Amino acid sequence: MFDSSRRNLAHWFALSMGGILFAFAGVGYCLNVEEQLRLFDDELFQQGKSFATKNQYYLYQSQWQNPPEKNQLENGAGLNGGMIYARWYNSQKQLVQFIGSSGDKQLTTEQMFQTLQVSRSTEKPDYNPLWVRQVTIPIVQDKELIGYFQTAAPMDSLRHSLNQARLFLALGVPITFGVIGITGWFLGGLAMRPSLRAYQQLQRFTADASHELRTPVATVLSNAQVALMPPEDIIEQRQRLQKIVETAKSMSVLINNLLFLSRNDGSLAETTLQQIDLRDILRSLNSEFTPQAVAQNLNFSTHLPEQSVMLRADVNLLKQAVINLLSNAFKYTPAEGKVQLLLLVQSHHVIIQVVDNGIGIPAPDLPYIFDRFYRVDTVRSRQTGGFGLGLAIAQQIVQAHQGQISVKSIVGQGSTFEIDLPLKG
Ligand code: ADP
Repeated sequence: MFDSSRRNLAHWFALSMGGILFAFAGVGYCLNVEEQLRLFDDELFQQGKSFATKNQYYLYQSQWQNPPEKNQLENGAGLNGGMIYARWYNSQKQLVQFIGSSGDKQLTTEQMFQTLQVSRSTEKPDYNPLWVRQVTIPIVQDKELIGYFQTAAPMDSLRHSLNQARLFLALGVPITFGVIGITGWFLGGLAMRPSLRAYQQLQRFTADASHELRTPVATVLSNAQVALMPPEDIIEQRQRLQKIVETAKSMSVLINNLLFLSRNDGSLAETTLQQIDLRDILRSLNSEFTPQAVAQNLNFSTHLPEQSVMLRADVNLLKQAVINLLSNAFKYTPAEGKVQLLLLVQSHHVIIQVVDNGIGIPAPDLPYIFDRFYRVDTVRSRQTGGFGLGLAIAQQIVQAHQGQISVKSIVGQGSTFEIDLPLKG
C-alpha cells in the first residue's frame, strides 16, 4: 500500500514537474527563436536599407527590359557580405534592376520579411536548398513611395545556432526529467515516512490491544459456559461468576486506557487549559495516596516549594500523569520502602519527580518502558496486573503540555521518574 502511494506521489511529482519543465523548455525555445530572428531581421533590414540608400539611383532607370551585365552591376553596386541578391522595384512594383538572381518581374509579396528556400544550383535538382531570409523595404522620398528594395541573406548561422539549442534541449530535457523522476521517488519516500511510521504504530497498537483483550474474553467465555451448566457445586459457580466480573472490570480498565490514549493524542485545545498552582494538584495527590501508603506500609512523603508554581495546564490530565507514576512507584516498591513526590522549580521550567527505592528497572528495558503495552517482565505484570499503558499515557499527556518525561533507574535500588514542564507564566 505504501509502495503504491509512494509510486503515485513520485508519478504525480514527475508529471507535474515534467509538465512545467516541458512548458518552460518549449516557451524558452520559442522566445529564443523569436529573439534570434528579430536580431537577424534587424541586421538584414539595416544592411538592406543602407545598401538601398547608397544605390538608390537604380530606381530611376526606366523599366527593366534587358538584364544588364551582372558583372557590370556588381562592379557598380557590390553586394554586401551577407546578401545573396539585390532587387529594385519601382512604385508600380515592377522589377527595374537586380544583382544576383532576378526573381519575379512583378513584386507580389506584401510581407516585409519572408523565409524562403532557394536552390544553390540552377543546373541540377538541388537536394540541399538554401534557407534564406528575404526583406522587402519600401523606399520613400519626400513622403512619397518611389519604389522597393528587396534583398536576402542565408540563414545558415541562425539555423546552426537553433540546431544547437534544439540538441541541448533534446538531451537536457530527458536527463532533467529523469532527475525529476528520481527526486520524486526520493521525496515520495520522505513524505510517506511519517504516515508509514503512524501506520506501523497503529498496526502494532491494534495487534497489541486485540492480543490483550483475547485472554480476558476467553476467560469470560469459558467461565460463562461452565456457569451456564446445571450447577453441581453452587460455591464453584459463584466463583466462576466472580471471575467473570473481575475479568470484565480489568477489560473495562484496558478499554478506558485505550480510549484515553486515542482521545488525547496530539496537542491540547486552548479551552481545556487553566492557570493553576501545581502545588495544589500535588497536595491533593498526597492526600489521595497517603491512606494507600499506610495500607502498604510505605514511607510516602511530598516536598513542595513555598512559593506558588503557576502554569497553564489541563488539570485532570496532568493529575492523571502523576497518578500513573505514583501508582507504579507504589506497585513496584516493597513494604517499608520509600516513595517521594517532589516539585523543583528552575529558571524556565518546573520538574515533578516521583522517586522510589523499589525494585528498579533493568537498563536494557529503560528505552522501551514508555512504549504502549511494554512491560518489563511477565512475572511483574502477572503480580501487579498492569497492561503496560500507564507510562505511555503519562508520556502522551506530558508531551501534549510541551514537556518531557524521563526515567533513571537501577535494579534493586529504585527509580526516579521526572516530568519536565516549561514555565510560560
Ligand atoms: P504497567 O501497567 O504494567 O505498570 P506502565 O506503562 O505503567 O505499565 O509501566 C511499564 C513497565 O515499567 C511496568 O510493567 C514495570 O515493569 C516498569 N515500571 C514502571 N514504573 C516502575 C517503577 N517505579 N519501578 C519499577 N518498575 C517500573
